[in-house]
Amino acid sequence: MENKHRKRILITGAAGFLGSHLCDRFILEDYHVIGMDNLITGDLQNIAHLFKLENFEFYNHDVSKFVHVPGHLDYVLHFASPASPIDYLKIPIQTLKVGSLGTHNLLGLARAKSARILVASTSEIYGDPNVSPQSEDYWGNVNPVGPRGVYDEAKRFQEAMTTAYHNFHQLETRIVRIFNTFGSRMRLNDGRAIPTFIAQALRGEDLTLFGNGLQTRSFCYVSDQVEGIFNVLHGDCSTPINIGNPDEINLNQLAKEIIEITQSKSKIRYQELPTEDPKQRRPDISKAKRLLDWEPRVSRKEGLERTIEYYRTLPITALEHKDFKYYNHR
Ligand code: NAD
Repeated sequence: MENKHRKRILITGAAGFLGSHLCDRFILEDYHVIGMDNLITGDLQNIAHLFKLENFEFYNHDVSKFVHVPGHLDYVLHFASPASPIDYLKIPIQTLKVGSLGTHNLLGLARAKSARILVASTSEIYGDPNVSPQSEDYWGNVNPVGPRGVYDEAKRFQEAMTTAYHNFHQLETRIVRIFNTFGSRMRLNDGRAIPTFIAQALRGEDLTLFGNGLQTRSFCYVSDQVEGIFNVLHGDCSTPINIGNPDEINLNQLAKEIIEITQSKSKIRYQELPTEDPKQRRPDISKAKRLLDWEPRVSRKEGLERTIEYYRTLPITALEHKDFKYYNHR
């Protein structure tokens, strides 16, 4: 299609894990994709294959500063934000800024361009939940001054600001509450459970679990998450929608599954549980099923097999990375 007839979408956080998969998804639909990222936790390698395309452009820019994009925009996807505890504890102020100032800048841009905006929220807005599974009408249990407050509260502010723009300026807004997602392009040292365990298993090191490993999580494969986000964007619901996989597992079981799939000789080692580690995390996805006819299709086992296959194709140096601190598995 000729460039001038294509739908134009701005994707912030484009060089990150989810942002890069979203770029691929919209390129597949023949959109003109404008990626934006300041590379604070992302990697240009994730989108290197797109640079040769005429319908892809990239801006290296911090969205917490004023954002300008020339030309028309149909959609804005705001995915820029550190997402793993290791990252947001290292850069707490930037995390608060990108969720607040960054969101405000992008809402302003969407308004100026009459574009529809979707913001990436998170299951972390539920904090350490008192109910399970978590549905969208649960308001959460978050400590604003706890170690995770910088991320959780930035995302809660993001939801409030987005809703205010919808109510006050009649902006077309979408809010997706993303539950733990995994797949290719996650950084092996980003501290999240799946890449951490895979890296340890492939290196033949012990898999480190916090506490007794009985805390639960539910993991969504990236292709399901991307389809969910795509459907939320094109649906007509402006209130938050959970997207995730309700198949809950405790971290002991997850570690054993990864050891089995990688056929590693690694053992499990237990370490002290960090404070305020959520004990359980499971999405209620009935709203997404009802409104969007969406539900995940890829089983955890299949997703893990595909992800492990991807990591096996990386150069050995990627696995040898020794600067390997982890804070928590979320
Ligand atoms: P990621 O760290 O891989 O990607 C985030 C990207 O945003 C990186 O490329 C980073 O460089 C960029 N970025 C950060 N601050 C920026 C700024 N100020 N300006 C421009 N770019 C900036 O993380 P991810 O897992 O891909 O997460 C993407 C989004 O999805 C985040 O908003 C995150 O909160 C949300 N999310 C992800 C998950 C998950 O399981 N992956 C779960 C819940 C929510």
